[in-house]
Amino acid sequence: MAYEKERHLMVEYQLRDRGIKDERVLAAMENVPRHRFVGEHLQDNAYDDCALPLGEGQTISQPYMVAVMTELLKLKGSEKVLEIGTGSGYQSAVLSLLASEVFTVERIPSLADRARKLLKELDYRNVHVIVSDGSLGLPEHAPFDGIIVTAAAPEIPQHYIEQLNMNGRLVIPVGGRYSQILYQIKKTPAGIEKSISTACVFVPLIGKAGWQDTEIY
Ligand code: SAH
Repeated sequence: MAYEKERHLMVEYQLRDRGIKDERVLAAMENVPRHRFVGEHLQDNAYDDCALPLGEGQTISQPYMVAVMTELLKLKGSEKVLEIGTGSGYQSAVLSLLASEVFTVERIPSLADRARKLLKELDYRNVHVIVSDGSLGLPEHAPFDGIIVTAAAPEIPQHYIEQLNMNGRLVIPVGGRYSQILYQIKKTPAGIEKSISTACVFVPLIGKAGWQDTEIY
């Protein structure tokens, strides 16, 4: 399989050596052909330790950030998961190997179309790509056991908490336009447990419960 060695080195040096422990997450990222989710001219860089442009001014996250966020969801395999910000579809493919059903929402139709076709071609059958404003969640398919937001919000949209199952987890970058903190939130019978993980930089979540278009351009 193409880039097998690069993918293995990525998992060992960028993920395991930096503290990613969940063997299922490591195995999934060893499996998903990340080079297929970037443009052809970027394939040789697909396993580099950085984010890469994916078109329309958006970026596919650094492998380490994908691993950190995915690990925080603590998936066992039976969950229904919502991803906000399909982008290239890479994170969706990783989730598809770790959960039973994945819904992923993208606001830019051309990105959603491309990701949908690629995920189908690569046979990730449990992923549903939907075009809508994901800042509102996806009420028609709620509740979810996990919600992962791969774009940055100015604050935590309440819709996400409402659409989580009891004991469900939300992972979301929250903060300013150019730097954020990664939050992990667990919905428990006693209320919301909130903790922070690492500093990060994501493209903005643009929508009714995110940033307004006019604040960006
Ligand atoms: N997870 C992606 C990377 C996401 S980049 C991957 O693995 O490639 C963030 C994506 O969020 C962009 O594609 C952007 O268009 C999308 N986005 C921003 N605001 C959104 C919203 N309100 N609803 C859905 N998608 C949104």
